[in-house]
Amino acid sequence: MEIKYKSTRSDSAPITASQAILKGLADDGGLFLPTAVPTLEKSLKELSELDYRGIAYEVMKLFFTDFTEEELKACIANAYDEKFDTDVIAPLSDVQGTYFLELFHGATIAFKDMALSILPHLMTTAAKKNHVTNDIVILTATSGDTGKAALAGFADVKGTKIVVFYPKNGVSPIQEKQMVTQKGDNTFVVGIHGNFDDAQTGVKKIFGDKAVAEKLDKAGFQFSSANSINIGRLFPQVAYYVYAYCMLLKEGKIADGEPVNFTVPTGNFGNILAAYYANKIGVPVHKLICASNDNKVLFDFFESGTYDKNRDFILTTSPSMDILISSNLERLIYLIAGEDAKANAALMTQLSQEGKYTITDRMKEALAMFEAGYSTEKETASKIKSLYEDTGYVIDPHTAVAAFVYDAYKKRTGDTTKTIIASTASPFKFTRSVMTAIDAKYDAMEDFALVDELSALSNVTVPRAIEEIRTAPVRHDHVCEKGEMLKEIYGFLGIS
Ligand SMILES: *Cc1c(COP(=O)(O)O)cnc(C)c1O
Repeated sequence: MEIKYKSTRSDSAPITASQAILKGLADDGGLFLPTAVPTLEKSLKELSELDYRGIAYEVMKLFFTDFTEEELKACIANAYDEKFDTDVIAPLSDVQGTYFLELFHGATIAFKDMALSILPHLMTTAAKKNHVTNDIVILTATSGDTGKAALAGFADVKGTKIVVFYPKNGVSPIQEKQMVTQKGDNTFVVGIHGNFDDAQTGVKKIFGDKAVAEKLDKAGFQFSSANSINIGRLFPQVAYYVYAYCMLLKEGKIADGEPVNFTVPTGNFGNILAAYYANKIGVPVHKLICASNDNKVLFDFFESGTYDKNRDFILTTSPSMDILISSNLERLIYLIAGEDAKANAALMTQLSQEGKYTITDRMKEALAMFEAGYSTEKETASKIKSLYEDTGYVIDPHTAVAAFVYDAYKKRTGDTTKTIIASTASPFKFTRSVMTAIDAKYDAMEDFALVDELSALSNVTVPRAIEEIRTAPVRHDHVCEKGEMLKEIYGFLGIS
């Protein structure tokens, strides 16, 4: 079955998967979705005999139908390799009957590696298929995590370059160290004097400038973006939900066809939407539990049917979930509106003009598979502490938000369905928050001393990603003013 992609905001002609990967966003500002939903070609039982790469192929071939088998398998082989510290790629830890799906074994020890390690390969393959001869220049503004994961994914990928802008005084020392030590001659990292919004606004302006695009084209380059609305990030994430189900099946922990719950710590709604698609293509699911931190705009939405971003932005210890506009939610809205692009576009216009919208009762009924909850800072910290004390297993604050929300759900409903929690970051990525949650006395220790203490206490070797930055030399020292971003890009690309 050939799958094409159309925008969530208008009924323009569908395009191929490779074209959608190259474009990222539709011209009308909408997101791309498949025009039909495929289903897995092998049974779950057959799939459970495959390794991660094998399952990834079975999933991705359903969505990226204009890629050949050879092309897709090459992308998968280049993505899920020794960059991961385990051949299993996404191990499932059984912690007293709750399953933690560890999505943090890649280059930057957070779940964004799962998609950003394959996106560069999908993009360069898509470029070839569409006779694009320019090099692709990925342009990103980051508040910390995405920038590093994108740098690690695109580093040394032929036919690409990546430029990352970050607020010089707006990221943590470890995050900055991770970025400025990035290897790869095709990478370029610049601190700007300004905040994240300045970086983001600057990048958007450069993206939208036709004269800049023409100048780049003449020099053999074109811009693209690596953000989480790209289908080349969304659909590779479906693979690990299928994989998790198959692992439980293989280990005899569930029966064939037995539904499971997935609990997902949610920010932009990309990860949980991938779980929703895993169900659509054939994984039996009882509930998808959407977990938020204090920025509980999604919890309120699932409770009331009103999405309202007009509220204070709260900084938490799970910063990758500090989001007030969950951009991937638009895809779900479109689907529950009966794939009505006009209805969806009207709601999105309301969101941009008034900061809120309300869905109809009919649409709300279509959300029956979703449950939602949130965890306060105190609850998150106490979950890290109690899980460690009860089991010895140490989780990061994002995962702890999900674990807390799942516990509360279980207490409230008595639901005993086997549950998989998406574990989205290594505790070593958020060592200070994790250690002080366990005991306040650790706050007095230095960052790397804390890392060693966490390693001893959790009985887990310090991940390579952390070990490397202890000693890695600084390779990027460019700093610029807000107005000089384009000059920096031209300098890097050798354009005068
Ligand atoms: C990005 C991120 C999330 C949120 O994922 P979404 O797909 O944006 O919902 C959760 N945890 C961590 C560690 C992340 O980096």
